[in-house]
Amino acid sequence: MLEIQDLVVRYGDVEAVAGLSIDVADDETLALLGPSGCGKSTLLRAIAGLEAMASGVVRLDGVDLARLAPHERGVGMMFQQPALFPHRDVAANIEFGLRMAGMEVSGRRRRVTELLELVGLVGYESRDVMTLSGGEAQRVALARSLAPSPSVLLLDEPFGSLDRALRDRLVDELPDLLRAAGIAAIHVTHDHAEAFGVGDRVAVMTDGKLLQVGPAEDIWRKPESAELARFMGHRNIVEREGRPFLVLPTAASVDAVGGVDTKVLATRFRDGRFVTSVKTDEGVLEFVLQERLAVGSTVKLTIAGDAVIPLERA
Ligand code: ADP
Repeated sequence: MLEIQDLVVRYGDVEAVAGLSIDVADDETLALLGPSGCGKSTLLRAIAGLEAMASGVVRLDGVDLARLAPHERGVGMMFQQPALFPHRDVAANIEFGLRMAGMEVSGRRRRVTELLELVGLVGYESRDVMTLSGGEAQRVALARSLAPSPSVLLLDEPFGSLDRALRDRLVDELPDLLRAAGIAAIHVTHDHAEAFGVGDRVAVMTDGKLLQVGPAEDIWRKPESAELARFMGHRNIVEREGRPFLVLPTAASVDAVGGVDTKVLATRFRDGRFVTSVKTDEGVLEFVLQERLAVGSTVKLTIAGDAVIPLERA
């Protein structure tokens, strides 16, 4: 298990990581989601030993990492740019760390074959890395960071430079791949869909701190604060009795008898549903509905009570 307790990392006066605590289980992928500049990369770099900690403790399987040099920590890193060694073949790139660690040739060969199978590039050993597509190069980089069998893999926007379709495919594949390799991971991204896709849990970070940690559905359906709800893209934040509430967009159903009168302002078809804006006493709210409502008409909507979530103001 990776344990992070009260970690602080400073650049001069800037507290980039401001007293952050979280545990990551051995077979868990934690997606770390947050806006640019919130301290995500700094957190990863401190865990890897590339940035000094001002205070706090980071332990891996009970061992205090502060006492270990970066290469002794059992922590692998993967970045947005694969940064492969040019004009060398795929095998030479993947086995680089193993050669540095003094592993003999036959062991290295076996490990490279095993890893190419894991990342779906069987038979690529002797390909020049300059001839690889972006997605293939990123898989080779992944194989290279997995080669020394790290206990924890830190991924810093690993799909940031890839096009949408390729990114979606890797988001589908990566969790299985990490689970198959039995590796804990922290996967940094600023893309909500990517975080929800890869994370067993999602941690949302702003200003060097964690706002909330939990399964994707809880982060989306049960945000604790208005700040988090807004960051997740929720629009239906209303004031009731002097405090903010989130009305989930899935909360409403059309009801001929009960419900409140609303005026339909706009509707658009998305992902098999109708995203519908309505004017209510509390302002404009947006709901996903099964049916198309006529723009300009007045309809009665029932809003499920358990889909109205109280929020902290911050
Ligand atoms: P993120 O990865 O979430 O985009 P970073 O960890 O890169 O955020 O940066 C967090 C904060 O620390 C930012 O305010 C950034 O400007 C600052 N920062 C990052 N690296 C350095 C550095 N080497 N020197 C000084 N400030 C830095």
